[in-house]
Amino acid sequence: MNCDFCCSKNLYKAYKPIGSLLDTCVFICKTCGLSQSSKTTKKSLSKKKRISGGADWGNIRYGKGFRVFKTIKILKNKMNLKKINKCLDVGSNRGEFINSLSKLTNCDFIGIEPDKKLKTKYNNKKVKIIYERFENITISQKFDLIHCSHTLEHLDSPSFFFKKISKNMTNKSILYLEVPDIKIIKSKNCLEEYFIDKHTFHFSDNDIKNYLIRYNFKIINKTSDKENAIYLIKKTNSKKKQYFNNRYNEHKLLIENYDKNISLNIKRIKMFKKKLDNMISKKQVILFWGAGRIFNIFQNHVDLKKYKSKIYVCDEYLTNYVKFSSGFKIHKPLSLKSVKFDKIFITARSFETDIRKKIKIIFNKDNRIKISSIFSN
Ligand SMILES: [Zn+2]
Repeated sequence: MNCDFCCSKNLYKAYKPIGSLLDTCVFICKTCGLSQSSKTTKKSLSKKKRISGGADWGNIRYGKGFRVFKTIKILKNKMNLKKINKCLDVGSNRGEFINSLSKLTNCDFIGIEPDKKLKTKYNNKKVKIIYERFENITISQKFDLIHCSHTLEHLDSPSFFFKKISKNMTNKSILYLEVPDIKIIKSKNCLEEYFIDKHTFHFSDNDIKNYLIRYNFKIINKTSDKENAIYLIKKTNSKKKQYFNNRYNEHKLLIENYDKNISLNIKRIKMFKKKLDNMISKKQVILFWGAGRIFNIFQNHVDLKKYKSKIYVCDEYLTNYVKFSSGFKIHKPLSLKSVKFDKIFITARSFETDIRKKIKIIFNKDNRIKISSIFSN
């Protein structure tokens, strides 16, 4: 394997993701610092939905939908949406972005989506979806706006993407680029595998900047939150000498600490088993709020199935896509309104404040039930 950014073969084997179905390894390039996964098994992954805390997580495909609200807000702030005549969406997924933006503009859309099974209804007649991988198609048109959110890390080559997309842009075009930011693995609370099989590249802010310099782009705006980095990008004709930063040492340390933290946190989860035995022996009824990746890790390390008759699982969103998680039926929170719970565990990473509010409204008006987040246990 060669580094996608600098073509170096000088790669350091940094980490083996937990639960990979493709025997994946994460390598860091010693010459430029880019982290990339190499899959030893060359088979392609099945499209089966897997609610897993491990590297095999995937195919629920609901993550992008959560992002659209923020995307539209940023775009509204930074550009005149009425002036967009043509928009390209690379990785159009369930059409969340195209459907949201088409309420605000009257532009033509082209969406590129490799998953033919995602049958989306578009209310706008000016939408054309090409069901193919970005790598395999040629589009010669120029676009005013190109949206590429949580797609770059899945592609065969970000270098190829930047070279190709540049040809679809004029000097006025804006590229909205959003990627997961590897800085999240700094968190002491790491538990779900970050280096999932579906991602080939694991970018830091520095990696993205290196690419943008090399392919003559400039950042006109950057926003970041805990998990994602969002860039608004334009082309530049700058012929200045190009400087790249190599953050190899920093990235190596980051991944080493992540590896240690994950092992530590899994040990903590295993210790939870005793506590649960104790609660169940007192005939307590327990609810896990959050049926996703964290719940799966609990099931794998605590063997929750053993206590099946005393444990319920609920989730606000996953119920729209799947019925079961780790062998448990996923309930809508409201449908469990009449069950008397003794203890509620929040097995979700985001939206904890919201979840606590909802628990109070639905189950815990008198504050009788003990509620805890798995990270404070
Ligand atoms: Zn490199």
